[in-house]
Parts: sequence; structure tokens; C-alpha cells
Amino acid sequence: MEIKGIKALKILNANSNFTVEVIINTEKGQFRGSSPAGESNSKYEVNQFSKSIDEEIISFNTYLKSLVGRNINSLDEIFNLEKEIPKEFIGGPSLSLSYALIYSLSAELKKEPYELFGKKNKVIPVCKMIGGGMHASGFGMDIQEILVTTIADSNLESINSTLKVYKKVKELLENKTDGFMGGVDPEGGFISGLDNYESIKIVREAIEQIIKENSMDIRLGLDFAASTFYKDGKYIYKRPLYGKKEVSRSEQIDLTKKLADEFDIFYIEDPVDETLADDYGEILKLLSNSIIVGDDLTATTPERLEKVHDKINSTLIKPNQIGLMYKVKEYSELADKFKIEKVVSHRSEETSIPIIADLAVGLNAKYLKVGINRGERIEKINRLIELN
Ligand code: PEP
Ligand code: MG
Repeated sequence: MEIKGIKALKILNANSNFTVEVIINTEKGQFRGSSPAGESNSKYEVNQFSKSIDEEIISFNTYLKSLVGRNINSLDEIFNLEKEIPKEFIGGPSLSLSYALIYSLSAELKKEPYELFGKKNKVIPVCKMIGGGMHASGFGMDIQEILVTTIADSNLESINSTLKVYKKVKELLENKTDGFMGGVDPEGGFISGLDNYESIKIVREAIEQIIKENSMDIRLGLDFAASTFYKDGKYIYKRPLYGKKEVSRSEQIDLTKKLADEFDIFYIEDPVDETLADDYGEILKLLSNSIIVGDDLTATTPERLEKVHDKINSTLIKPNQIGLMYKVKEYSELADKFKIEKVVSHRSEETSIPIIADLAVGLNAKYLKVGINRGERIEKINRLIELN
């Protein structure tokens, strides 16, 4: 495949902030890649841009011109190109370029994007029900996400019953909360206005009601994104949780266990600050039936996973945290080596391309974390249905 034309431009992401898109022309047509951003970022992830987005796009376009006429015929050749990208473009620009190349190459080879990475695998969606923390502008919960996952025989069945829970949560919020008007955060999670405990209780109740009707294996999850409310050695809750607003490190570990026991929480992401790997390890020991998921802790960075792999049993994969697909592949293989379950994930500020669904399938991730509302999330859910 020869790159006949290539350019970068500024587009909006789903949280109305600008990001970069790369458009490639080949004999087979025009192919687009664009990179998302996060609202709650890990200190270990790469910056999306090294200077202002406008300046960066001008210099990136100068670099991209040097790629016109280049032939790319395999995923390895995309990886080799990535290794030559000047450091200043690693982040949003490099990932947008890689995504556009992946789409161009799959058209050239008449393959689906996931086939460039691996064979077809079942992937279970993990979907957001209620949003808090930075995703809800500090309104309501301190915990960033209440999630639901359904273990079923097909992607479609999982999506179906998770959707039933989502609609039940909406109904319960309408009945139980004054002023709830169905508003959602950037990831499609409802903004309830209720505190952490009440919000979790509502999602548990919704799950129980749906299980009664459908007898499915529906599980509850939380992404604490605890680094966002950890200040000077304490976790600061706006409204008391189990009677406490200022919580020490050891109390946060106890509190996580208490919540997990009371509400039967299966999926537990970033329950403690991203710098405190040993505290993840403590929680892993206490809650061996749950998955303890590193996101801010690991930041899709192989060196981080090497360091902390024995403190978790599951990890998010967010390609824009590292900005280069060969590193994402390396990270995924490392997770396999350590027998750590993989969760490919959206970001709060997504773009509309569905590529993470292909990556989850091709990289043989167990889960795809993605919203179940809002167009840019539905693109990914629908792609997962296509790959059923
Ligand atoms: C997350 O923390 O898992 C998440 C998806 O949010 P963000 O993109 O804001 O990091
Ligand atoms: Mg997270």
C-alpha cells in the first residue's frame, strides 16, 4: 500500500475539546484515525500534545509530508514507522497516524482491523451506569464510575442484559431522586446527584431486579479513580462514606473491602492512589474473588507493568496513554505473560472511530470498557455486535 496523500487536522472530541485527526489517501480510498483524551489522567501516561495543538499540527503536517510515497504492507511495517516518529509527536498525533494506517492497511489486505492483531475472540463489555468525580464536574459521587458487566455466551447477549440494567438504573433514579432529568456524563454514565453509597445501592438494586427476570450472570464494578481525591496522604470524600470524609491509606483499603463485601463488587479499578502499588497488593490479597484492575497505576506502560504486575490481576489498555501501537502490543503480551486479564478501554473524551472494539477482539482482551449511551460510545458497542 502506497501512501498517496496524508494530512493532520484539528477535530472535536466527544467532550467538545480539540484533538487531532489524520487522513490518509491510498488507492483503496480515504482512511481516518483520531486519538481520544482523558479527563482523569495518570501521572504515568504520555501528554497528548507537546505544545499547543495548533503549533503541533503545523509541525506534524511537515513531518507527514515525508511519508508520501511510502509503502506499508504489514502491521510490522506500521510498527517500524512508529519507531521513527520524532519524540515530540508521540501522544495524540502518533496514535492518530497509527490508527489511520491500521484502517488503510486493513482495506489494502482486505482484512478486518482486528485481524491484523489476532483472531476473533469473545469480548465482554463493561459499561458505565453512574458517573462521578471529574466526569461529573464534582457533582454527586467521589467514586468516578459505577460499572456493570454481564458474563454471557455472546457479545450481543452481554450487551443486551447490561442495557437492561442501564435502563433499570434510569428508572430507579427517576423514581428516587428529585431533579434527575436523565443527564449523562461524557461516558454515558448517569449523573445521579446521590452520594457514593446511595448510587452503588441503586445499581445493585437494578442488577437484582434484572437477574430476577433473566437469571443472567450480571456483575457490579467500580472505578474509584482514587488518585483524583487523594490529597496529602488522605482520601477526601465530599460526603461521608461509612461515616467518614477523611480516610487514611489503611482505612481506604478497609473501606474498599467493606463496599466489595456489602455490594458483591466484582470489578475494582484504581481503588487507591496510583503511586501506592503496595496498597493495590493488599486489596488483591483481601479480595481474591474480584478483579483488581490497574489503570492510572499502570498507564499502558510496559515498564510500569513490569514493576507492579504482582499487585493486580487485571489491567486497562488505553492506547493513548502510551501513544504507540507497537508498545500497546508489547504491553498486551506482557499482561499475558503475567496472566493479567486485559480490559481495553475508552477514554472520557473519545472520538467516533470504533477501533478499540477491534483492538479488544484482536488482542484477545477479556473485556471492553465502554459507555452504553452517546453516539461515540455506541459506535464501539455496535462494532462489538458486528464482531459477535
Ligand atoms: C478511566 O479512568 O478509566 C476513564 C475511562 O476515564 P478517563 O478517560 O477520564 O481517564
Ligand atoms: Mg480508570
